[in-house]
Amino acid sequence: MSYTYDPENIFAKILRGEIPNDTVLETEHALAFRDIMPQAPVHVLVIPKGAYVNYDHFAQEASDAEIIGFNRMIGQVCRMENVSPGDGDTGYRLIANAGADGVQDVPHLHVHILGGRGLGRMLNPA
Ligand code: AMP
Repeated sequence: MSYTYDPENIFAKILRGEIPNDTVLETEHALAFRDIMPQAPVHVLVIPKGAYVNYDHFAQEASDAEIIGFNRMIGQVCRMENVSPGDGDTGYRLIANAGADGVQDVPHLHVHILGGRGLGRMLNPA
């Protein structure tokens, strides 16, 4: 399997500092920032800094350090945003859309962290 990454996608531009973002957390390997069109009171996107199109690309080609850094940031943001049920908060949902059926608009891996309201069942009826 080979993956093609478009370096002109909007999250690549955010990572290069070419367009602004509302940063929640930044580390060596990942960046978390608020979604520009939030779907819930908490709506944060977590992206790896490396050039990965989607989750399966990342899982196949990222280093162990990148994978650990990315995943630890997701958990950390859940706690920072006060949605972690482990901390007595009301919970959250993680979404990583990929490709056409996943309706992925931005071709740089991102995990949506959604919370702060009831989110309903996982999928709408097709
Ligand atoms: P997806 O359909 O999973 O690719 O979702 C892409 C998400 O990126 C959407 O929720 C958009 O609102 C969000 N988005 C697009 N441009 C920006 C931006 N410049 N800053 C923050 N979020 C953005």
